[in-house]
Amino acid sequence: MSYYADRLEELRGRGLLRRLRRLDSPAGAVVRLEGRELVCFCSNDYLSLANDRRLSEAAARAAHRWGWGAAASRLITGTMGPHLRLEEEIARFKRAEAALVFTSGYLANLAAVRAGAARGDTIFSDALNHASLIDACRLSGAAIRVFAHRDYDHLDRLLGQTPTTGRRLIVTDSLFSMDGDFADLPRLVEIKRRYGADLCVDEAHATGVCGREGRGVGEMMGVEEAVDITVGTLSKALGGLGGFVCGSRELIDYLINTARSLIYTTGMPPSVCEAAVEAIGIVRDEPWRRARVGELAERLRRGLIRAGLNIGDSASHIVPVLVGEAEAAMELAGALLARGLLVWPIRPPSVPEGTARLRISVTAGHTADQIDALIDALRESAGRDPSR
Ligand SMILES: *Cc1c(COP(=O)(O)O)cnc(C)c1O
Repeated sequence: MSYYADRLEELRGRGLLRRLRRLDSPAGAVVRLEGRELVCFCSNDYLSLANDRRLSEAAARAAHRWGWGAAASRLITGTMGPHLRLEEEIARFKRAEAALVFTSGYLANLAAVRAGAARGDTIFSDALNHASLIDACRLSGAAIRVFAHRDYDHLDRLLGQTPTTGRRLIVTDSLFSMDGDFADLPRLVEIKRRYGADLCVDEAHATGVCGREGRGVGEMMGVEEAVDITVGTLSKALGGLGGFVCGSRELIDYLINTARSLIYTTGMPPSVCEAAVEAIGIVRDEPWRRARVGELAERLRRGLIRAGLNIGDSASHIVPVLVGEAEAAMELAGALLARGLLVWPIRPPSVPEGTARLRISVTAGHTADQIDALIDALRESAGRDPSR
């Protein structure tokens, strides 16, 4: 057998083999997956904007006006009016001096972390940070110290023990993508000030959803001005594609001059930029969307806890149901699927060994009845297995 066949067989044996599944409909609370109509609890389309008519039309208008490609790196001729308009709009929305757009949040993270710490510097990274932040730390060339998840006493000790050569950068998700719990940003600000470190916060899952105006956990916890480097994405609550970094004008100018994930890749299609500008307008003008996400998420968390299920420390619209082994997660997802409910099982290496789970995400497009049906199905399906 070939190398690849061997490795795939090994994954299959461990219940970790993955395959791509075909969606036959746009994203939404109800989707068609390989021919079956299902209530979908696994998209990151928190505000239900991925298939918003106004945004599709904004993208179509821009495609007619600007064409469908940017045709060059942002630093050559790949910066069009729509790119600059979007960056101004993001900076205004985030109350930052400046913002810079990348073609994905992943690429934005590579740039953000590398700007905050490079060879000779030290990064302090939460153990459950998103894979894109982990890759960003590795690629930065800085030394990496990992602190236990949300264990800020541990972070404090690590900072105290690490000699002060070079810069120090604390890196964290604001809302953790697989657990739905929040970083304690005020505590991190206090620590970073005490040690003279910088703080880089990835607001991918919180942008548009958390905070009264949807600016994220920084807004929600009242510390956004103290964060040195903020990353966000246009691909989750905003429903499209792309990522951004925001912060000081100097930070953004430095990124324009040094960020390899900006310089050595083609600019975003202008249609995506124009639709994202509209999406930010919707975040501003339709606060009912995030209010609804909050209400439905609370209904779900309460219901699951009442049903005796383990949702960890979730306090948000991302709600895990922890089951332990990968196979148990697959079985539970299968039982839900049989009832028309699409919930993705999350297995290692996306989460640590032994912490396989279902990851439920709530969107503004769900109904209370759909949430209740999911709670009932989970109570009954999880209850059938005496080992849980
Ligand atoms: C999804 C995600 C990203 C990457 O964003 P994309 O725009 O999808 O590339 C970055 N950070 C976190 C925490 C994420 O969950």
